Amino acid sequence: MVASMTGSFQLMKSLNRSLILNMIRVYGPISRAEIAKKASLTPPTVTNIVNELLKDELVLEGKMGVSKGGRKPILLTINIESHFIFGVDVGAQEVRIALTNLNADVICLKRSKMSKGFTKEELLAMIKQNIQEVLDKEPVPENKILGIGIGMHGIVDHEKGIAVYAPNFGLSDIRLKEELEKTFPFPVKVENDARALALGELWFGHGQEKQNLVCVNVGVGIGAGIILNGRLYHGEHGIAGEIGHTIIDLNGRRCSCGNYGCLQTVAGSNRIRDRVIEEISLGRKTIIIDLVEGNAEWITGEVVHEAAKQGDALAIEVLQQTGRYLGIGLTNLINFVNPEKVIIGGGVSRAGEFILDPVREIVKSRALTESARSTEIEASKLGEKGTITGAATLILAELFDYQIS
Ligand SMILES: [Zn+2]
Repeated sequence: MVASMTGSFQLMKSLNRSLILNMIRVYGPISRAEIAKKASLTPPTVTNIVNELLKDELVLEGKMGVSKGGRKPILLTINIESHFIFGVDVGAQEVRIALTNLNADVICLKRSKMSKGFTKEELLAMIKQNIQEVLDKEPVPENKILGIGIGMHGIVDHEKGIAVYAPNFGLSDIRLKEELEKTFPFPVKVENDARALALGELWFGHGQEKQNLVCVNVGVGIGAGIILNGRLYHGEHGIAGEIGHTIIDLNGRRCSCGNYGCLQTVAGSNRIRDRVIEEISLGRKTIIIDLVEGNAEWITGEVVHEAAKQGDALAIEVLQQTGRYLGIGLTNLINFVNPEKVIIGGGVSRAGEFILDPVREIVKSRALTESARSTEIEASKLGEKGTITGAATLILAELFDYQIS
């Protein structure tokens, strides 16, 4: 994996270098002496590597620290504007491309809606064109760009960088890494969107400091990213965390995977819309119909959430029912994985407490042990930017992470 990295990225690759860089990221501002102590390295080793990092502009010398006798130490911080990363979120409805700094802060964002029935060649062309447009617009030298991270829904082969199957597009075998690396001189990493989100939450969101964490992305589909002992867990064939296809209703509806009664057929965003439409067709009164000016196809999770906020009984009922189903799915997951915390992201999570409260109630009453029942459950801190942040973190993890897996 490391050997395939190209360009300026290769320079970054030394174990001690990553270790020191990560120390500065996590503990900065920090002095050279403190780094040596925390990393169990000799002061000359730290000085040499810090000199390299200063030369490459990855690190900045800042304020003076407190002296314990003698000269005040100079404190080091990450120079977050020194290098840049592309974070790409290939969602069900749109592709979002962001240029970020080393803190995964978005500097420039480009969104493109997907038209129906596009081919994988069209998808690849659109991603390439959008990246190129950002490159043309932003005055960032190419040698300052560390890579392109992509969060993609569906089944992903993260080692080869292939979207094996993207159910929302009905496309398979999209060779994202190979194709983009042909066009751009940067390394490309591809990951499933839920896993990218989990990594983003681990580094920048509500998962910081956690070792065992599950992040569930709830939209049209439902997927989970699992962090075990501080590392992303993929499973043998990359389908670990496909919680949306755990079967929870034997007599349920047909799922995009071909099975019946999968979790995402009862708790995914399409089901929220379908439940509302069913109830309206049975004559139920609701303000949702006014909010969409009578167009049933405009009903989305956001619209239902808006109606719930205005006190609409049907909207509240539907969101709570979705929350209860999600709670059952998460109870199973908690019993399986036993995480410290579960973070819920994706469109459905933005319905906030209408969904989270019933999720928490179900987990509290049904998980296996007292400690499992009190597993923390929280909405994503990163919100809409979650997958983009996670996608950028795929590249950051290569730069900073000394625990090379
Ligand atoms: Zn399924």
